[in-house]
Amino acid sequence: MRYHNITKDDMLNGDGLRVVLWVAGCNHCCKGCQNPITWDPDGGLLFDDKAKQEIFEQLDKKYISGITFSGGDPLHPANRLDVKNLILEIKEKYPDKTIWLYTGDTWENIRQYSIWPNVDVLVDGEFILAQRDVKLLWKGSRNQRVIDVKATLKKMEEQGEDVAPVLHAPDYSNEKDEREARQTMQDMPVTSCLL
Ligand code: SF4
Repeated sequence: MRYHNITKDDMLNGDGLRVVLWVAGCNHCCKGCQNPITWDPDGGLLFDDKAKQEIFEQLDKKYISGITFSGGDPLHPANRLDVKNLILEIKEKYPDKTIWLYTGDTWENIRQYSIWPNVDVLVDGEFILAQRDVKLLWKGSRNQRVIDVKATLKKMEEQGEDVAPVLHAPDYSNEKDEREARQTMQDMPVTSCLL
């Protein structure tokens, strides 16, 4: 696996203060992606032991809530196995830290992966420029979902595979932003697709 950055004390990619691993490799090519430099799986730096220790040093700190995997796409075929193994190692070493993961894929396409029992929150779906809203909580566009993975797995066990995922967070952090977003959507002109 290769990566571009490890950011520390990050408040923008999950609950609390987090360490974020920005991996290389993404096939989604979303229009308006903020990190197109991360698309190439051969870009960036090799994720070696030194990089892993850098992450562990952060997770050793009491005030760090956990790690977020972003990119690029941590579930790109070039990353999937290494990310899974790293998550297993972190869960064993730091059972109280939370694991967040961003992917361009949707939960319905990837819910069979064996990685999920060790992931706390998944932010799924491609970034859709037409649905972008900078006030959204933990996500860039309205189609994306901040999914409580453990609660969703439990619901699947009880009710079957096709249940809607349980959300970890609402779209907005407060009612004012939500009201304004609703108003903006109402004010948008109604268009019809003639194709
Ligand atoms: S999934 Fe994320 S990293 Fe990949 S193209 Fe879309 S926005 Fe960019």
